[in-house]
Amino acid sequence: MNQFEFFEKFPTEDDAIDFIVSTKYKDGYVCPKCGCVHHKIYHQHYNRRNLYCNNCKSEFSALTGTIFEHTHLDLRMWLFAINLVLIARKGISGLQLQRELGMVSYKGAFRMLKLIRYAMGTETHRDTFEAIVEIDETYVGGKPRKENKHNGKVSKKSKRGRGTSKTPVVGVVERSSGRIYAKVALPNKEGKKLSGKQLLSILDEVCKSNTTVMTDQLSSYGILDGKTDRKYIHIKIDHSMTYSLGDGKHTNTIESCWAILKRGVYGIYHHISARHLQEYVDEFCYRLNHRQPDIAWKHLVGLGVCGAVA
Ligand SMILES: [Zn+2]
Repeated sequence: MNQFEFFEKFPTEDDAIDFIVSTKYKDGYVCPKCGCVHHKIYHQHYNRRNLYCNNCKSEFSALTGTIFEHTHLDLRMWLFAINLVLIARKGISGLQLQRELGMVSYKGAFRMLKLIRYAMGTETHRDTFEAIVEIDETYVGGKPRKENKHNGKVSKKSKRGRGTSKTPVVGVVERSSGRIYAKVALPNKEGKKLSGKQLLSILDEVCKSNTTVMTDQLSSYGILDGKTDRKYIHIKIDHSMTYSLGDGKHTNTIESCWAILKRGVYGIYHHISARHLQEYVDEFCYRLNHRQPDIAWKHLVGLGVCGAVA
């Protein structure tokens, strides 16, 4: 949705409230005090954010349990921010959002983005990927800090690819739909990165039984050659071949998703700590999974109003 369409749709804050309330309570609501069921929405007349129960005469906030809970901002700002996040292909920084919305504080803009990412992360693909999937890993993180700068020494440049000190992210793409699920894969207790078990558990989260799994030649994928609970069919791709034979054996779909994630990390966010990396990965996956912003916009508002606040 572009800016003209947005302000045509939401000329006042009440329109934004009505949109959020009708998305959250599309089947009516239950009064938290007396348990009375209301099929029609009754707003409190002096505060449209509050709903009213005409049985026990009590009122309660319609925004409880949503990402908009406790906000004092105009709800149009929230909806506008959601729209901006969805149409910015490589993401949007807190500072940029602050400028776009004319907010005084950076913290407020940053909190908004965090909650929008949280809503994006609540989407689930559990046991829905089928037929052919590709799995691959990438490494995200900045250059190492110049720890010994005062001695004139600079720590070694971080390696690229396997063996790097960066944080691994594992992604699974369903070939037919292009849907992606990605997870930050922190080292296990023994400090081992990307163990076979870890990779298998990520596949098990989203894939149905008898799915064909395309991988590269990382030795941990060898676990798929043995017996697995979901009877995966494993196809290993030889990347020393410089071209694809046109037989569909490749992991190009997931690799192009990594390219978008990496450009966003380098160009917009610059540095993401391993602790918060999953939130950013969720944001990129959500955008890749919902490529039509107008449909995604309504879907995301739905997730934001249904998900509990972290
Ligand atoms: Zn009541």
